[in-house]
Amino acid sequence: MCLFCKIVAGEIPSTKVYEDETILAFRDIAPMAPTHILVIPKTHIPSVDGITAENSAVVAHIFETIPAIAAQEGLTGGYRVVSNCGDDAGQTVHHLHFHILGGKKLNVEMA
Ligand code: 5GP
Ligand code: ZN
Repeated sequence: MCLFCKIVAGEIPSTKVYEDETILAFRDIAPMAPTHILVIPKTHIPSVDGITAENSAVVAHIFETIPAIAAQEGLTGGYRVVSNCGDDAGQTVHHLHFHILGGKKLNVEMA
């Protein structure tokens, strides 16, 4: 089981900020901003590359939920959503996840 599947299963503890039947959001263990949350599907999808017509409903659900998570976290000034896909992007956990970063003026560099 991958690291984030273990977090979904409760085998590794996490600080949850949102959970429902199909997705989970929890605080990043090494925050890069005052607010740094990871949102994941409970089912194992390896990365953005693994999104298909068959499994994309959960991705839509993640994006429908992100505004509520941002509001709950008080990110009234805005926030960034990032997903690293593959080696060149520096993906380290191979279970699809979207970073929500906020709580300060973020650096503008995209690459
Ligand atoms: P990636 O580099 O794949 O885009 O993002 C993986 C993220 O997972 C990193 O920001 C890293 O800090 C976070 N992370 C790695 N292991 C754990 C863990 O055990 N718990 C939590 N909450 N975050 C983790
Ligand atoms: Zn997984």
